[in-house]
Amino acid sequence: MKIRVAGGGLAGTEVAYTLAKAGVSVSLFEMRPQRETEAHKTGNLAELVCSNSFKSLSPVTASGILKEEMELLGSLSIAAARKSQVGAGEALAVDRDLFSQEVTDRIEAHPNIEIIREEIVGLEAPSEFDFTIVATGPLTSPSLSESLQKISREAEFYFYDAISPVVQSESINTEIVFRGNRHGKESRFASDANDSKGDYLNCPLNEAEYNRFLDALDAAEKIEAKSFERLKHFEGCMPIEEMLKRGRDTLRFGPMRPIGFDDPRTGRWPHALVQLRAENREGTAYNMVGFQTRMKYGAQKEVFRLIPGLESAQFYRLGSMHRNAFVNAPKVLNDDLSLVHQPNIFLAGQVTGVEGYMESAAIGMLVARFALARIHGRTVESVRPPRASAFGALHSHLRNMESPDFQPMGINFGLFSDLAFEPALAPLRKRFFKRKKIPKTDKRAMIAEWSLAQIRRYRAKETAI
Ligand SMILES: Cc1cc2nc3c(=O)[nH]c(=O)nc-3n(C[C@H](O)[C@H](O)[C@H](O)COP(=O)(O)OP(=O)(O)OC[C@H]3O[C@@H](n4cnc5c(N)ncnc54)[C@H](O)[C@@H]3O)c2cc1C
Repeated sequence: MKIRVAGGGLAGTEVAYTLAKAGVSVSLFEMRPQRETEAHKTGNLAELVCSNSFKSLSPVTASGILKEEMELLGSLSIAAARKSQVGAGEALAVDRDLFSQEVTDRIEAHPNIEIIREEIVGLEAPSEFDFTIVATGPLTSPSLSESLQKISREAEFYFYDAISPVVQSESINTEIVFRGNRHGKESRFASDANDSKGDYLNCPLNEAEYNRFLDALDAAEKIEAKSFERLKHFEGCMPIEEMLKRGRDTLRFGPMRPIGFDDPRTGRWPHALVQLRAENREGTAYNMVGFQTRMKYGAQKEVFRLIPGLESAQFYRLGSMHRNAFVNAPKVLNDDLSLVHQPNIFLAGQVTGVEGYMESAAIGMLVARFALARIHGRTVESVRPPRASAFGALHSHLRNMESPDFQPMGINFGLFSDLAFEPALAPLRKRFFKRKKIPKTDKRAMIAEWSLAQIRRYRAKETAI
């Protein structure tokens, strides 16, 4: 059996690793460094192109549940994230270089994986491979996008994502900027970049400073979208100027939310606040959290230097905008995420219509299981994840035939099933939650416990991986 995986990103590496662990030989095609994308900068596998955070670790958030399920099923990216973690309060954030190096090292070291540094330019021609798994992500190369579009027989979809800037730490004014986590929560992780006072560096703004910043942001020159591209934004990565269009308080309730931060100079919460999160363990570079933008580079420097504490900021990277390609999954994919019109091709990762690093990696883990079922002549049902789990929630989003306008989505409680609350399950539920000592009113905790219990049972039945 010959299997190839196109794309060595978050999803492709999970696919290759899962198949390899199950004893299947995989050829992993990655076009970088020969051919770069608009956002990747290195030749490493699983490079993170924007934020260095994998979102919350809290067990009662949807993304916390997903990560725990991934860890239970042996995720490569979670293992690499644990090794490269940097302090970020409740979130799992990583040193991006250490993270992608760790993934690269583990993939390179696996005897069942051959890495081929080559672009896959099309899928129409017959190949020597029995199955192809396409995990080329939001920045799939143009010729492969075209080929995918042809064989899936679907109109093309594009939307834009935006990258936030990274500031050099020695250029930050520490007389103004103060360290701390929201509501004074303690740091969960110690490194050179943080201390007991907290993980984030915070730039406080009073009302006049906030208004001056908004006016400059409004007036700044922006890069316009090309006319043939539909402008849609990844909600979790919306440019700040788009937020400003929704109202002058939107930023203050979004990435500039000051609640829970006592400015040591006034002893009070400021009017607005910009959070800076360490990009690496040494704390030499800080990401402006939630500050994605499509302002032109020159304008960005001027506007960001209006933020108190960043008057002399030097930037390692400025914000930018990028293409994002994905298919209309409910229409073009089968239950096992293979193409309806060419079932020997599976899709994985963000190109299927999930959104986010961890979601893409999770779909990679899932598709590897579907491919294994096909290889061993087992049914899709035998590996489909339980509906009442985060994996099941993501899978059912991709199978949602009722949605008239399919849009990419990250994990959220809206996608989880209410199976845990079905009347027929009442006796089982009562015993289960009583044993776990979870009050009936704590719906999120109940969903979390129930989902993880389902995934543990699913895992127990897995024999091959
Ligand atoms: C600009 C931008 C900012 C983002 N910001 C965030 C964020 O802050 N947080 C978040 O959770 N998610 C973010 N995302 C989404 C994030 O990129 C994806 O969720 C995640 O990386 C997708 O994983 P993937 O494996 O599907 O694709 P990727 O990780 O992008 O991997 C795809 C790989 O395929 C390779 N490739 C492409 N075409 C070919 C080809 N023809 N042949 C061979 N190799 C090919 C690429 O080089 C790449 O290595 C952002 C996306 C973009 C584009």
